[in-house]
Amino acid sequence: MYIDAHSHLDFYGKNIERAIKDINNNQILTLAMSMDIESYNKNKVYAKKSKYIKPCFGIHPWKAHEFKNRLTTLIPYIEESEIIGEIGLDFIWSEGSHTYTKQREVFYFILEESVKRNKVINLHTKGAEDEIYNALKKYDYSKAIIHWYSGDLKTLDKYINLGCYFTISVDLGYSDITNKILDRIPMERLLVETDGPEALEWVNGEYAYPSIIKDLVKKICNYKSLSLHELNKLIEDNYNSIMSL
Ligand SMILES: [Zn+2]
Repeated sequence: MYIDAHSHLDFYGKNIERAIKDINNNQILTLAMSMDIESYNKNKVYAKKSKYIKPCFGIHPWKAHEFKNRLTTLIPYIEESEIIGEIGLDFIWSEGSHTYTKQREVFYFILEESVKRNKVINLHTKGAEDEIYNALKKYDYSKAIIHWYSGDLKTLDKYINLGCYFTISVDLGYSDITNKILDRIPMERLLVETDGPEALEWVNGEYAYPSIIKDLVKKICNYKSLSLHELNKLIEDNYNSIMSL
């Protein structure tokens, strides 16, 4: 079995049936991140078609400023969802600094409610690596998957020391910094992800179906001189270990 620790299935749009078939045929346990409530509801529908799809509730930092209701209305979703994501802060690719206050309001609320309930959280840290580290440190919370980390290595070390888990994404082989990050992440905290159909497209122009995760796993096998069986077993162990923290 493969594990895709961060994907966006609703981004497949009209191609969703083919994507679900690909997940089922290749047995890819998929953590289906949500952008908002609407996206979470879609993920729940997809999960009815595949035992490998795990819908995860979150409000993405790009969507936080659109959330107008009371934050407490999010609690039932947080309670229901075993894994929370995608949540975080983005000070680079968001719509601009006018969204920061709302981003923080939504993120800190969901973070606190998730920590209280001992949920695994799947984090977007773009340009906010230090701030999010400080937030986790405040709770001494390591039940966190840092998705596609791309900050500096000094802050990466702080997350490592705190005990967090990390995904390597589809830019491996295209980015020197990703190689350096892979060198640094302890193998017992390593996970992999596709980030949906458009992430690889952003890297090399190729639209990706979920089984692209197999290419990524193969690349890491070569890089770390591990067999496919060894690496898949390691990733599965890592996933089970964060889930049972
Ligand atoms: Zn994402």
